[in-house]
Amino acid sequence: MVLVMIKILIVEDEPNMRMGLRDNLEFEGYEVDLASDGEEGVEKAITEKYNLILLDVMLPKVSGFEICKQVRAKGIKTPIILITAKGEEIDKVLGLELGADDYVTKPFSLRELLARIKAVLRRGTNEVEQDEDATIGLLNVNFKTYSAFVDGNSVQMSHKEYEILKYLWQNKNSTVSRDNLLNDIWGYDENPTTRTVDNFILKLRQKIEIDSNHPKIILTVHGIGYKLITS
Ligand code: CA
Repeated sequence: MVLVMIKILIVEDEPNMRMGLRDNLEFEGYEVDLASDGEEGVEKAITEKYNLILLDVMLPKVSGFEICKQVRAKGIKTPIILITAKGEEIDKVLGLELGADDYVTKPFSLRELLARIKAVLRRGTNEVEQDEDATIGLLNVNFKTYSAFVDGNSVQMSHKEYEILKYLWQNKNSTVSRDNLLNDIWGYDENPTTRTVDNFILKLRQKIEIDSNHPKIILTVHGIGYKLITS
């Protein structure tokens, strides 16, 4: 099960390093956002939503440690991997104490970095926790307790319907293709068709939309798939 659109913020002041990391991570299928100094880094880390932050320690304006501290002080639990330089052993400990999840030491191989990113993402269920409870208009869903209400009235949904809704919620306001849904919800071993996806969406709409003929939550993106709209 691979979630689409894993978004990583890279905070790194050295242009070559920044661009190199971006190219490599994009090649691996991650969506990448960049910040070139500490000030921009802290701003983005606090205002945008990421699955992971790759944070250089030695940065102009605001250090990586300071960013770590500020981000955690705001209650943001996004996993952070620190990039430290050789010989900064004490810094590593300090970084972890300040709320970083892991670190890599320059120079590091791409392979090592990717392994750490994957491990931290696997561990980091924070994103999921933040997304446990969804309120969209009159709809309120809790993906942990599997309960859903429309205008205060309980709605019965199947496990698969919860999974689809959760997937759309995690990718809210972005278009999710039928193929994304097929691969990530049904997996490769089952044999559903895009028609199966459409039928499930139809049933889901009948349960969560006020008027399923004029959906306001799950919109059709013609020829591609669906988009869950939160406002
Ligand atoms: Ca640096």
